[in-house]
Amino acid sequence: MKKIVIASLVSSIFAIPAIAAEQADIVVIGAGGAGLSAAVTAHDLGKKVVVLEKMAYLGGNTNRAAGGLNAAESKPQAKLGIKDTIESHFNDTMKGGKNLNNPDLVRVLTTNAAASVDFINGLGGDLNDVGMMAGASQKRSHRPTGGGFVGAEVVKTLVNASKQRNIDIRTMAKAEELVVKDGRVVGVKYKQRGKAEQTINAKAVIIAAGGFSANQELVTKINPKLKGFATTNHSGATGDGIVLGQKIGADTVDMNQIQTHPTVVPGKGEMITEAVRGNGAILVNKDGKRFINELQTRDVVSAAELQQPGKVGYLLFDQDVRKSLKAIESYIKSGLVTEGKTLDELASKLKINATNLKATMSTYAKDQAAKKDSQFGRADMPRPLTTAPYYAVEVTPAVHHTMGGLKINTSAQVIDTNGKIIPGLYAAGEVTGGVHGANRLGGNAMADITTFGRIAGKNAAAE
Ligand SMILES: Cc1cc2nc3c(=O)[nH]c(=O)nc-3n(C[C@H](O)[C@H](O)[C@H](O)COP(=O)(O)OP(=O)(O)OC[C@H]3O[C@@H](n4cnc5c(N)ncnc54)[C@H](O)[C@@H]3O)c2cc1C
Repeated sequence: MKKIVIASLVSSIFAIPAIAAEQADIVVIGAGGAGLSAAVTAHDLGKKVVVLEKMAYLGGNTNRAAGGLNAAESKPQAKLGIKDTIESHFNDTMKGGKNLNNPDLVRVLTTNAAASVDFINGLGGDLNDVGMMAGASQKRSHRPTGGGFVGAEVVKTLVNASKQRNIDIRTMAKAEELVVKDGRVVGVKYKQRGKAEQTINAKAVIIAAGGFSANQELVTKINPKLKGFATTNHSGATGDGIVLGQKIGADTVDMNQIQTHPTVVPGKGEMITEAVRGNGAILVNKDGKRFINELQTRDVVSAAELQQPGKVGYLLFDQDVRKSLKAIESYIKSGLVTEGKTLDELASKLKINATNLKATMSTYAKDQAAKKDSQFGRADMPRPLTTAPYYAVEVTPAVHHTMGGLKINTSAQVIDTNGKIIPGLYAAGEVTGGVHGANRLGGNAMADITTFGRIAGKNAAAE
């Protein structure tokens, strides 16, 4: 008898009660850069926003972004005397994406990216340094002063802004289904650890759940050649947002366009930002020879690297490059960098050909002085790489970015397989396709997520 009483008491305390549906104006799925940009924007337009994040932490892949955020005709560029144009950013993006990009989306991206820099700086962020990234004809990669990590700065700024505004962000809350009524998206069903499935009704839903580089099954199904490749992404990048959309008839574009990044530490998945090459580093192989214009796009550099002995390269730089970029200090602290007081010492530690390496470096220094890369036609050679000590990181390609995803229009509305807008549904960031075409330029994802995140937030608020 006593046992039964206790059991029923316990079950009444611990039973999971059915939870009544809540009401919000907007539900955002994913608390990365796109989702938080959308949430802050919609909140500031007077909307009640709920953000669902499946992981225990905020920021997704955006936390990991290292290099910068591309924007042309920005205020920081003007301050630094950098002459750049939106047209040039547009042309570089189309060229980098092999013209597979949707030009209308690229036009929106490049026209609004400078305002995205203002948005982050206006919220208290620091994107005031501007550097070079591969595939760009001008310095337009915005990052914290001294060349620190861009993603951490953007996430910190957006999380602080969300806290100041008391935006309702729920972690370990996985969106499982979009609620559709009479053809319109009117809410989201989600599960939070230890709780029964819950529903939030809303006037609009924004999918900002990121890409799928960490979904090895899907990646290798699309491109079997990527079997066994490591990824630079966080484990939450599994493409849930694409599936959620597809289940209610959303169309996708460019799903087969998967990018590898050429400078990832083998076996560790640690990515070395492109800004290291942008600030002057070169790539050599085990023979101590350069093998590519290091500022070519990622697809080209990755392919060249896979042709080298051992399918690896060595990212090589000197003390001058180290001093120019704060991000390098964290790579050194993490033990990823080999140091040599001389080129002979470095070559010996790396077990690469010292005679060839010295010849390579001497040719490079001469070419840099003459402002003409006699070997590979690299246009920007900011430093001669002659200041000891010398540094190197062994690198190989890893799965980095998924250019494909949900089809959107320039208002960030999701399009269905019949070419029609799905009412009430928006998407922004890496979960979408069409912005980057066949190859994303370094720095353009951060521009994409802050720009289309803001657009999705603004338009969803108008619903
Ligand atoms: C190592 C690295 C370095 C990079 N460096 C740069 C750079 O320098 N410049 C640049 O432009 N780009 C860079 N990128 C790319 C860029 O960081 C990403 O493309 C971008 O941050 C994606 O932002 P997002 O908001 O779309 O997605 P994310 O930031 O990944 O956010 C998506 C969020 O959605 C959550 N989520 C997923 N599914 C669900 C679900 N079912 N329910 C609830 N939540 C869900 C995820 O957990 C995640 O937190 C880099 C990427 C990596 C991995």
